[in-house]
Amino acid sequence: MNHPAQLAALKKPLPESLLAALLSLFGERCSTSEAMRTHHGRDESSYDPMLPDAVIFAQSTEEVSDAVKLCAAHDVPVIPYGAGTSLEGHILALRGGVSIDLSQMNKIIAVHPEDLTVTVQPGVTRKQLNAEIRDTGLFFPIDPGADASLGGMAATRASGTNAVRYGTMRENTLALTVVLADGRIIRTGTRARKSSAGYDLTRVFVGSEGTLGIITEVTVKLYPQPEAVSAAVCSFPTPGDAVRAVIQTIQMGVPVARVEFLDERGVKAINAYDKLSLPENPLLLFEFHGTEHGVKEQAETVQEIVAEHNATGFEWATRPEDRTRLWGARHNAYFALLQMRPGARAISTDCCVPISRLAECILDTKADCESHNMVYSIIGHVGDGNFHVQMLVDPNDPEDIARAEGVNARMVARAIAMDGTCTGEHGVGMHKMDFLVQEHGEGAIDTMRALKHALDPKNILNPGKIVQW
Ligand SMILES: Cc1cc2nc3c(=O)[nH]c(=O)nc-3n(C[C@H](O)[C@H](O)[C@H](O)COP(=O)(O)OP(=O)(O)OC[C@H]3O[C@@H](n4cnc5c(N)ncnc54)[C@H](O)[C@@H]3O)c2cc1C
Repeated sequence: MNHPAQLAALKKPLPESLLAALLSLFGERCSTSEAMRTHHGRDESSYDPMLPDAVIFAQSTEEVSDAVKLCAAHDVPVIPYGAGTSLEGHILALRGGVSIDLSQMNKIIAVHPEDLTVTVQPGVTRKQLNAEIRDTGLFFPIDPGADASLGGMAATRASGTNAVRYGTMRENTLALTVVLADGRIIRTGTRARKSSAGYDLTRVFVGSEGTLGIITEVTVKLYPQPEAVSAAVCSFPTPGDAVRAVIQTIQMGVPVARVEFLDERGVKAINAYDKLSLPENPLLLFEFHGTEHGVKEQAETVQEIVAEHNATGFEWATRPEDRTRLWGARHNAYFALLQMRPGARAISTDCCVPISRLAECILDTKADCESHNMVYSIIGHVGDGNFHVQMLVDPNDPEDIARAEGVNARMVARAIAMDGTCTGEHGVGMHKMDFLVQEHGEGAIDTMRALKHALDPKNILNPGKIVQW
């Protein structure tokens, strides 16, 4: 049983003895104020907030363990909270309970430049990490746009613009420290680059969205800062031309570091928001990393490919400030589009397909949005076969919301029929639970449920997310 209304019906007031114990352990770092609970009971999804009963700010693995033991003893839900940037209803407290905010666990524990690894507390954000390790000559490439926490990124198996070259949190997480549902603390791996030692617990927790354990340390891979970086933009007469150029680039094995697609609506939105004057046509934004020579070679190959697909206005951005401006605009695209319909809320969804099917999936989804008169934009990390559809809906108009959900459901069905997935990177949260069944089938979902039952027999860890209990 997992339906939001059913879970809400199970909601019980926070036991006074539990609140007293939390207050004695956390003092001022335990809050029941309406403002604090509201902040922790909403994410970037279009769902209405669902508030936890209390919020605590943990500062150590032991504190997380103590809090979880107390909540387990009282059968009270626990919802881990990173930076709150997730998009699919991940952190909403369906049954109330205690939100454990990990943002004060924000220390870099150990950098090992000689091994290209770093171990951090879960509240370290990706921008903080890169700022703090800059002098080592290394960087952490995973970039979901938002300044998410490393714990949240591991928990959602995040990726973003650089994944086409450097992979996602799945490939880049070496080990985790995790507090289990009964408060026990485990370590899931080592700093070794590979291991055949038993079940791969790291990858069980990566992507588990706080439903199997609370991550309190994350060890990830780092990469040398590239000797040379250059970026380029070009426009296309149709979205199909742009996406086919990307497919050919990937099929030819050009190791682009980033390749992002924006449809004409996305370009229009960022032009208005970031005061740019890009041609309002489908656009590709490339970044190349490597040696001076390697970057030049990659860029020349890509320039030839895009020309074959009718690209115009190929323009370089070699100065760091120009690149920062362009990527800043790309990262603002979500907020830029929100301005296109004042008062609207965004339903933001993603899917991912094998690269050869990408053009078909994007074009069919775009046609669907058009035929339902959606205010929308399609933007994507297209080098991975991953794209996002952002639809702006009137939160007070159930028909508008239903039309957007229809587009979402058909996009997911299309992606699954193409041997793709219902979400490439945003995760399941509350919004994609039914689609998970479509994608994996009952047998695989039963196996996931068995895992959940084994690791969280009281269903206290972020209940109501990923799989039906
Ligand atoms: C504008 C915008 C652009 C985005 N673009 C991308 C993108 O390109 N790629 C991408 O992958 N995502 C993207 N996202 C989504 C979001 O940034 C990611 O899902 C991110 O990984 C969430 O991290 P967070 O720290 O904000 O986690 P939160 O939102 O706080 O939590 C997310 C989930 O993880 C759980 N969790 C958090 N911390 C822990 C922990 N320490 N232990 C266990 N569970 C935990 C929570 O309970 C919740 O289920 C975007 C979001 C926005 C707003």
